[in-house]
Amino acid sequence: MTATVIDGKAFAATVREKVAGHVARLKEEHGITPGLAVVLVGEDPASQVYVRSKGKMTVEVGMNSWEHKLPAETSEADLLALIERLNADEAVHGILVQLPLPKHLDEDLVINAIAPAKDVDGFHISNVGLLGTGQKSMVPCTPLGCLMMLRDHHGSLSGMDAVVIGRSNIVGKPMAQLLLGDSCTVTIAHSRTKDLAQVVRRADIVVAAVGRPEMVPGDWIKPGATVIDVGINRIDAPEKGEGKSRLVGDVAYDSCAAVAGAITPVPGGVGPMTIACLLANTVTACCRANGLPEPE
Ligand code: NDP
Repeated sequence: MTATVIDGKAFAATVREKVAGHVARLKEEHGITPGLAVVLVGEDPASQVYVRSKGKMTVEVGMNSWEHKLPAETSEADLLALIERLNADEAVHGILVQLPLPKHLDEDLVINAIAPAKDVDGFHISNVGLLGTGQKSMVPCTPLGCLMMLRDHHGSLSGMDAVVIGRSNIVGKPMAQLLLGDSCTVTIAHSRTKDLAQVVRRADIVVAAVGRPEMVPGDWIKPGATVIDVGINRIDAPEKGEGKSRLVGDVAYDSCAAVAGAITPVPGGVGPMTIACLLANTVTACCRANGLPEPE
């Protein structure tokens, strides 16, 4: 069997197009421009790349974009004061603090200082609680993007066996909540899981969010299963030349694609969907803030 490749890049482009349409309507019919403020503390190279590409795509769909770049030594008080200002600014509908933060800053404290209605990453404790209890919330972008691809591919997920490998607050746990919300039978695996291969083998849906290059081999995959690879790992690629590197996911792509029914590539799978969902969440936040109907 050769798996269908789920093209996250193309899907994300359609999501961004829809977002651009909503933005245009909000401007025309209501004179409102949705706006996203991104806060970056320090100079982590990967974070700089993410923030730049988030800003570029925000502008491309017609929204306002603000980037607040603060030095690595910024104090907690100064960062919290900026968040307070953004919370109070009516032109700002979404606030994203790029993680990880430098060690001296308390991530939980900072994230929970964001107004929940503007928390487009969905990490605020209120949004986590709302999601966990099946109420209207802001849904974390990466798992939301994965769910959209799964729904698009399968239609209904009801009754499917789903295994999520990874239990982080930003990917694994909210992913499991979303799959449960769609009536999957959900298992969350992690570093202490016994016989992970056997656990994964029974899954109709495997979501790998581990951070270990190509950890999941094809012989863990049930024939015909759908594999969503969240991992983004940079590894050495001497075949491309000295000092070169390439991106790989958390699953061994070739061996998994030989067994799976469908699979997301890395790059070009989950990554682009994450940013598209961030833009969609910002429009949702803007509609809610203005008492307007939300896009579907
Ligand atoms: P974390 O490091 O926060 O969590 C990793 C999880 O994997 C932990 O729950 C850990 O278990 C588990 N784990 C580690 N080793 C093993 C193992 N050998 N067997 C089973 N489980 C294991 O990572 P994130 O959730 O933040 O990210 C996961 C991956 O997704 C990374 O590659 C990251 O770069 C990528 N990512 C991609 C995004 C995108 O847009 N595509 C967005 C966010 C992340 P334990 O809890 O027991 O330690």
